[in-house]
Amino acid sequence: MQEYPKHYCGVFGVYGQPNAAELTYYGLYALQHRGQESAGIVTCDKGKFHKHHGMGLVPQIFTAQTLHRDLIGSIAVGHTRYSTTGSSQLINAQPLTVDCKRGQIAVAHNGNLTNAAQLRDELESRGLVFQTTVDSEIILMMLAQPVLGGVTNNLVQTVRRIEGAFSLVIMTEKELIGVRDPHGFRPLSIGRTAEGWVLSSETCAFDVVGARFVRDVEPGEIVVIDECGLTSIQAFPDHQRRAFCIFEYVYFARPDSTIAGRNVYQARVEMGRQLAREHPVEADLVVPVPDSGNCAALGYSLESGIPFEMAFVRNHYVGRSFIQPSQLARESDVKMKLNLIRELVEDKRVIVVDDSIVRGTTSRVRVQNLKQAGARSVHVMVSCPPHMHPCVYGIDFPDRNKLMAVTHTLDEIRQYLHADSVHYLSHDGLVRAIGRPREAFCMACYDGRYPVPYDRTLNKAIMERRRQDTRTLGELLDQERRQASLL
Ligand code: AMP
Repeated sequence: MQEYPKHYCGVFGVYGQPNAAELTYYGLYALQHRGQESAGIVTCDKGKFHKHHGMGLVPQIFTAQTLHRDLIGSIAVGHTRYSTTGSSQLINAQPLTVDCKRGQIAVAHNGNLTNAAQLRDELESRGLVFQTTVDSEIILMMLAQPVLGGVTNNLVQTVRRIEGAFSLVIMTEKELIGVRDPHGFRPLSIGRTAEGWVLSSETCAFDVVGARFVRDVEPGEIVVIDECGLTSIQAFPDHQRRAFCIFEYVYFARPDSTIAGRNVYQARVEMGRQLAREHPVEADLVVPVPDSGNCAALGYSLESGIPFEMAFVRNHYVGRSFIQPSQLARESDVKMKLNLIRELVEDKRVIVVDDSIVRGTTSRVRVQNLKQAGARSVHVMVSCPPHMHPCVYGIDFPDRNKLMAVTHTLDEIRQYLHADSVHYLSHDGLVRAIGRPREAFCMACYDGRYPVPYDRTLNKAIMERRRQDTRTLGELLDQERRQASLL
């Protein structure tokens, strides 16, 4: 049974800049951490769309010639994508485009729709044909539907029908549009350049393209940017529960980004300080697992007064280990990625800090490294609570039965990691470190309270039903012939 691919991504858009593609390229480069599987840019030049996408990293996909000669125009949208295995095909690379009665439209989407299967079923039964397996195509198809009232109106209707997590950057022949779901699961910010506007998943990309941060797109807001400037539409008059993904602050976003007025680096340092307050341990050294544990380890060291050392040295040329398909491949990658400076840890009581334990592979190898290098004791500190539930809004966590904290007690985790102790940051401590009320966040991966209901069985049922009619055209003709001969 194949489900819709989960994908978290980076989106970027430019309006009113002659070199829109180049700016988008640098924007996507700054958002590379949000997706390393494929990337694409679509530009609009005097009403004509130009598209280029490919598999791999941003600098591998676009050449200077592609950017300057092929992708001409002053409006652009870009996307960088990360997905689970099985869906890593070029056909699923975004931005997705359509040429319909209302003109050309391009969509770049970050997040996961929770009612994708139902909507797709509905659209297919009306005769629409899909080219990809990504839920984002549903948005494109809905936008392309001919209804009365123009693009914006159709957009409002689409935004009200789709459910789950979506930060969208949309391009029409004349506009750049930004949309955020009413819960605000994923980030999206607005910036200004010398001549125009930019939209970006994270503010770190503004610095790279020389844009000035204006504000975040509000949850439920649609911003339409055209030659008249920026128009804001609130698509959801009734207030909806806010549910910003707290894991963006813990791990996913870049530390040099600011989300909802809170800088990610500072939030992570505070998580480390909070961890030190909740779990004081006697030790000689605080060591981060680079890069994910850097800020929290610094915070732990500052709060506890225990010296901080970068004892693990990172090989920057090894990709992410998290999505390697086999456990062996994952373990080898984890080993190659970091090397330990033995002289720093030998005979020392070490606190090792990472942002999260998911399957436990990373932490286990790090404890082993430290012990083999002669550390006297190793205490594992995690700057978020235990992961207990899968994410249905776009973060790639494995099934519940592969989450270490689900299948093991705290002491079993300690034994598995061969650590002397293991400590997690509390739910309240995490929220306090970010400095916003708990109701502002989605913490479903920790507490199982899913802000938008997600009926897995229903989704599966619809997907299975769709696959029932798999007869070839030849078989169908044959059947018709046989039926005709019976008449
Ligand atoms: P694991 O080895 O499975 O326990 O994974 C934990 C490591 O993966 C931590 O160092 C995290 O920084 C990182 N990580 C956690 N969640 C994710 C995710 N959804 N995608 C990629 N990396 C992640």
